[in-house]
Amino acid sequence: MALARENHWVANLESKLSDVVGDRTSKVLADAFGITSVGDLMRHYPRRYMVRGELSNIAELQEGDEVTILAEVHSSANRPIRGRKGSILEVIVTDGSDKLSLTFFNQAWREKELKAGTQGLFAGKVGVFNNKKQLAHPDYQMVPDGADVDSAVDSFAGKYLPVYPATAKLPSWKISQCIGMAISSLDDLIDYLPDEIRSAHNYPTLQQALVQLHTPADLEHADSARERLTFDEAFLLQLMLVMRRNELKKLNTISRTTIKGGLLEAFDASLPFQLTGGQLAVITEIEGDLAQPHPMHRLLQGEVGSGKTVVALRAMLAVVDSGGQAALLAPTEVLAAQHLRTFQKLLGPLAQGGTLGSADKATRVTLITGSQTAPARKEALSLAGNGGAGIIIGTHALLGEKVEFNDLGLIVVDEQHRFGVEQRDALKVKAAKPPHLLVMTATPIPRTVAMTVFGDLDVSTLRELPLGRQLITTHVIAPLEKPAFLERAWERIREEVAAGHQAYIVVPRIEAGSDESADIDFLFGQESADITSVTELAPRLARGALKGLRVGDLHGRQSSEVKDSTMRAFAAGEIDVLVSTTVIEVGVDVANATVMVIMDADRFGVSQLHQLRGRVGRGASAGLCLLVTSALAQTPARVRLDAVAATVDGFELSRIDLEQRREGDVLGASQSGTQSHLRLLRVLRDEGLIETARADAEAVIAASADLTSYPALAAEVALLARDAAIDYLDKG
Ligand code: ADP
Ligand code: MG
Repeated sequence: MALARENHWVANLESKLSDVVGDRTSKVLADAFGITSVGDLMRHYPRRYMVRGELSNIAELQEGDEVTILAEVHSSANRPIRGRKGSILEVIVTDGSDKLSLTFFNQAWREKELKAGTQGLFAGKVGVFNNKKQLAHPDYQMVPDGADVDSAVDSFAGKYLPVYPATAKLPSWKISQCIGMAISSLDDLIDYLPDEIRSAHNYPTLQQALVQLHTPADLEHADSARERLTFDEAFLLQLMLVMRRNELKKLNTISRTTIKGGLLEAFDASLPFQLTGGQLAVITEIEGDLAQPHPMHRLLQGEVGSGKTVVALRAMLAVVDSGGQAALLAPTEVLAAQHLRTFQKLLGPLAQGGTLGSADKATRVTLITGSQTAPARKEALSLAGNGGAGIIIGTHALLGEKVEFNDLGLIVVDEQHRFGVEQRDALKVKAAKPPHLLVMTATPIPRTVAMTVFGDLDVSTLRELPLGRQLITTHVIAPLEKPAFLERAWERIREEVAAGHQAYIVVPRIEAGSDESADIDFLFGQESADITSVTELAPRLARGALKGLRVGDLHGRQSSEVKDSTMRAFAAGEIDVLVSTTVIEVGVDVANATVMVIMDADRFGVSQLHQLRGRVGRGASAGLCLLVTSALAQTPARVRLDAVAATVDGFELSRIDLEQRREGDVLGASQSGTQSHLRLLRVLRDEGLIETARADAEAVIAASADLTSYPALAAEVALLARDAAIDYLDKG
């Protein structure tokens, strides 16, 4: 509520907007932008500024553009319309070189307002009439010259005229006027940012920042206001995430310590390779977490092929040793089935628990998927429920109501980017006590993105690849430019197969018109008829260029038995060349495969291509990846492919990938509830600011865990947390 003081209204950020700008205007603002409070309005930030006297470039205006320009009136003329009643007022405005015509019907009186030599803001849609650019019936606001400044609305008195996101009903300067009214009625605001942080960064106060962003004295003031407010967004978000992480850490659960002479020890003794230094370091972190009586919340990010699976398996075995169960959630049936095979292979007799003559510490590994047969499902459910299986691997089917556990102690989520927070929480409720959580992703993301998206998780990173891991060489092949090169690609496959190796051919489609590649839609949004498909290409190659080789095909529309037996056959070397959609994208691990040809490679995203090629070069021989495209040299699509060919550094590639996404896609589903609070922050651009904000947030919380010493700050964080939670519940 605004209060009357000394004859005018005094408002704060919570005040109703209608108290300050009146009911009518406040309704327009609410309809257009959802603005209902003074605070909402103050946080409707300008996109940029126009400088009084610096006129907009008229030559640059394009037909159809919605524009707001600053121009000077050159001349005006009112004349009758021929053969009809009424008159037309034509006003010519100029930027000093080009001219633009403004037309008004039956509004001769405007001539008095639009005096030659005065400047104004003009808003409308650029049209063309008689080959001349024009604005028909533009909205306008004349800018007072020096002498009029005192009588002008506050927001027009300065040198910098803010340009706001606006609508036809609500041009930028009307918003500016409303903000001017809000500013002049604002009471002294309480600044939630702790003084020590504000002064350490030399930031303006909240009040100064808000006023200077809307009505800057100069551009330096505008910049520091913007920086302070951008920092605020990062800081509040980090506070929320750090507090949430600390809350999770306070929960009580069963600590899972490794035991002497247990399953884990036996497993380590039988492991056919030496763990890398990076793996050992991460394992130590994880064991430390599991030993706590509080749940682990850890993200393990690592390059494709860095060996995350074995790290996860060790964590699972530690939990089984302590009497609990571990569940592994995988994004696809192909991957779930592969994990089962890998675990059974690595564990050998240690996975034969309950069978005659098994090792006494042995456990069992079971699989739960949507398409398994009823008897298989029944057995798996009972093994999970009675504790017979220590390790339960599954797809989304694991989240189903019928799935129960005896004592779920650890959840591992593989390829986290395929799951939302909701799914991981749906699994958590199946545990009696809050379970430990390990999420893994092979799409490495820059540190600050991780901080923002997974800020409530502790992060471990595996950068190193296991010794002996082979180099992958990548080339772009453009048959339109060099037709012989595609022939050469098939020949390379024949050579590899002749040398005893295997090949993948990845195509974007199952059959003409279908689409199985998740990234395609958002990147391209359009359909194209001549995209290679599995059902066309596999038989064509088997008859033609790859005649005599054993060619198999794999895609998401096959039944899980067919997919599974094809993958088994490929892993066993009974298929030479696998023509597949991106079902093999994540995690598929066949060491003997050395070459991958990706058709219509421009249809895939950068990170996706990196994932895909990570399927080759996993064994003793070097990997080769050929990106086939009809995208022309220098086009953005081709530049992307060249970038993928130029580096195997997943972190660098994920940055390239993220830069092409909209901010909302960068943050992903996990932070969508907070997005309305992130008006200025851009996670890639503002890395430095986010790092600083994180450190400041940790320091503040170390000093005052619940922010009790900072009540204003606590209230601000609570607002953010409330919106994050509302969004979260909506989706649940
Ligand atoms: P990702 O991290 O991409 O999930 P995986 O866990 O599938 O990678 O590991 C890739 C391959 O490397 C697997 O075949 C795995 O058995 C093997 N591997 C893992 N760790 C090592 C190691 N320390 N030395 C040799 N090979 C390893
Ligand atoms: Mg993996």
